[in-house]
Amino acid sequence: MFKPVFAGVLATGWLFSVAAAQTPAPLEAEIEATAKSLMDQARSDEIGLAFVEDLTTEVGQRLAGSEAEQRARAWSVAELTELGFDNVRVEPFEIPFWSRKSESVSVLTPSPQMLVATALGGSAATPLEGVAGQVVRFESLSELQAAPISQVDGKIVFIDEKTIKTMDGSGYGMGVRKRSGCAQAASDKGALACLIRSVGTQPHRMPHTGIMARDGAEGAGPVAAISGPDADQLSRLLERGAVTVAVNIQTEIKTNAPSGNVIAEVAGTDLADEIVLIGCHLDSWDLGTGALDDGAGCGIVVGAARLIADLPEPPRRTIRVVLYGAEEVGLFGATAYARQHGDNLDKHVLAAESDFGAGPIWRFQTRFGEAALPYARTLQTLLAPQGVTRGDNRAFGGPDIGILARSGVPVVTPGQNGIDYFDYHHTPDDTFDKIDATEFRQNVAVYAAFTYVAAQTGWDFRKQAEPETTGTE
Ligand SMILES: [Zn+2]
Repeated sequence: MFKPVFAGVLATGWLFSVAAAQTPAPLEAEIEATAKSLMDQARSDEIGLAFVEDLTTEVGQRLAGSEAEQRARAWSVAELTELGFDNVRVEPFEIPFWSRKSESVSVLTPSPQMLVATALGGSAATPLEGVAGQVVRFESLSELQAAPISQVDGKIVFIDEKTIKTMDGSGYGMGVRKRSGCAQAASDKGALACLIRSVGTQPHRMPHTGIMARDGAEGAGPVAAISGPDADQLSRLLERGAVTVAVNIQTEIKTNAPSGNVIAEVAGTDLADEIVLIGCHLDSWDLGTGALDDGAGCGIVVGAARLIADLPEPPRRTIRVVLYGAEEVGLFGATAYARQHGDNLDKHVLAAESDFGAGPIWRFQTRFGEAALPYARTLQTLLAPQGVTRGDNRAFGGPDIGILARSGVPVVTPGQNGIDYFDYHHTPDDTFDKIDATEFRQNVAVYAAFTYVAAQTGWDFRKQAEPETTGTE
């Protein structure tokens, strides 16, 4: 997916570059001391944590395009203004809107019983009276895709694939394939509906929602996730013989609904037109209160930026906090931001986003120009006392800033430990009590430190190596 960083450089130059890249760039003593004091202060951060507590309590769930997301924008503007940020504003855009009205999944035969289920975002509705049919079980999406039409036609598909629990969330990426593809693959073969085993990793009856397909699912049928224990139950019933289920999903759809990105800044001084962007997303799914996904991320970047704003002198570059709208339903805020600021992306010197809960940061990945790698080493060395190890230079950014990274904006991905993230993510269990204050504050410390150094040093993170000239070519 990414081009090797050193492609095209002569072998001798390559060796030289690798050695140079491993050496940290010198950091002015005063900047280093300030970054360290920011990390110390973050250990008792109240502002970031209060931001996520208040957002999730006073606004609650924030489904993209809903009245609640609109309230979250208004709440954030008031809060960020109150906190003293500069240039607080909303950049509005419109999105297609989907919302659940009701859903139910139940076993009809051999033994009538309810299953705990949630419709996936974007799911088609069933007829008002619902659909009912025999269940056909598949181990994976590819098994469904390979099945003959005769096996699926007129039935209710059940994909029973489990999500693997991993520290970096890679198991989720695989799990999402069935969430994205089931409705379409099932309808293409004449199925009445699709049920998937929840993409989450927890052992409780907490079904996990999420968008079913980010683009082009015209004609795809109804789709719901059933919780892990309910998927186990359905599997056990199927081992004993034929099972029929009833599925009823009712939805509300609008072609245009308001969303927007909320922006707040710490205005810079002599390099004010250069931007260090730190982001999160303000919208959430509708089941929990979106505390880990992504109220925590917003609290982390707001807390970090606020610590820097409290310094006696503002930093040289502008720090821009972006609370993206409508991330969950198709990265609409990211696209809107890139469109609106497309002619100014060369002034975005660095971007990072927090969207993986509040687990501790353990790895510092970057995507810098090759001659800027010494800056990555300096930042990694600075963050080492926080338990942060060196990462590689292949960061992709994250959902909302990935589009900036692909346009050449250097990015940092502070990798968090997400081993239990998908126990809560997109479920009714994503609530404020799941945030560990100490771990949250470690995130604030890391963001405050690297954001400050990036804003204060004037370093060029795009910097490429000078072409090698050996004179013998
Ligand atoms: Zn998220």
